[in-house]
Amino acid sequence: MSFEELKNKDAQYIANTYNRFPADMERGEGATLYSESGKKYVDFGSGIAVNSFGVNDVAWKEAVIAQLNKIQHASNLYYTRPQAELAELLCERTGAKKVFFSNSGAEANECAIKAARKYSYDKYGEGRFRIVTLKNSFHGRTMATLSATGQDAMHRYFMPFLDGFDYAEPTFAGVREKCSDKTCAVLLELVQGEGGVRPLDEEEVKKIEKFCKKQDILLMIDEVQTGNGRTGSLYAYMQYGIEPDVVSTAKGLAGGLPLGATMLFNKCEAVFGAGDHGSTFGGNPIACAGALSILKRIDKDLLLEVQGKSAYLFTHLGRIKNVISVSGMGLMIGLETTKPAREVAEKCLERGLIVLTAKNKVRLLPPLNIKKEEMDFCIKILNEVISE
Ligand SMILES: *Cc1c(COP(=O)(O)O)cnc(C)c1O
Repeated sequence: MSFEELKNKDAQYIANTYNRFPADMERGEGATLYSESGKKYVDFGSGIAVNSFGVNDVAWKEAVIAQLNKIQHASNLYYTRPQAELAELLCERTGAKKVFFSNSGAEANECAIKAARKYSYDKYGEGRFRIVTLKNSFHGRTMATLSATGQDAMHRYFMPFLDGFDYAEPTFAGVREKCSDKTCAVLLELVQGEGGVRPLDEEEVKKIEKFCKKQDILLMIDEVQTGNGRTGSLYAYMQYGIEPDVVSTAKGLAGGLPLGATMLFNKCEAVFGAGDHGSTFGGNPIACAGALSILKRIDKDLLLEVQGKSAYLFTHLGRIKNVISVSGMGLMIGLETTKPAREVAEKCLERGLIVLTAKNKVRLLPPLNIKKEEMDFCIKILNEVISE
């Protein structure tokens, strides 16, 4: 089947929800991908921050295949070892007390939203259910997480949206203004990903934390994109010096398999009882085995490497002509240029470099084990495309 035939089949049978780039991906190794016809790409997208160690990673494959040879699914009616071990590892590495597993970022945030409402219901009774999120945020595509997403452009067609979300400016003053005696939680991304790779100010976040603690408002951090080593620490909140009550993550957690996790810290440890929440697939043993392999390797040394690669990219990308700004943290990088981001991404793709976009930014999310020569290729191609 030629690429044209694949494109036509896709157009005929796949719902029209994606504005795909004109390329197919078939196989690869690390950050090098190939199409069916053999065109080579260097991958600075990682399937949107999912393939933490690229594709065909040997250790990850071994862990996944070993589990595949045992059992692929058991349901949450029974115990499975990978799930318990992954929860233990997440708690040890973060200080969380309990973990709920799901299959995606949106579901991880759904669980956070339910945890916040239940926490408040248990303690204060009905009515204290509102959650403050930030303008320009992104929390997912389900009805509740779309409602939580602070972008008017996304609140169309599907009315009515879920009641109970207030959208604040990304500052302490903005958040405080939207909090009331009906607020049970604040939910935020520390680096807004889809919103344009925009890190929040550390001092503002610390003030928000202090305020939330005083008001018994849960501080919930959406680390679906920023988590699992992406920003140069295991979770981005660790660099902000804050102690969240709930942390949600997904994307890179299982290195390419669908897995979401909602970590519940001290305050909400006991918020859920049997039957309060659940998932058929959540915490699937294969996904958890993959995640164990990924998480164990995100150690001090790897994080130092991520930080070094980040500094290298920031320096060299910042020198490219027509680059207005470089933003982000770790290997989550946004480039503002004088050219439209989509056009830059399309031209890069033609030249064998995969980059993403986020609003007006070119967005880079390479695998954490990206190599020096691949970074140099990325800088070279971006330089050609942006400065021309
Ligand atoms: C991608 C993303 C989500 C949604 O994750 P899905 O797995 O697509 O449901 C939620 N929050 C943030 C910050 C994300 O980047």
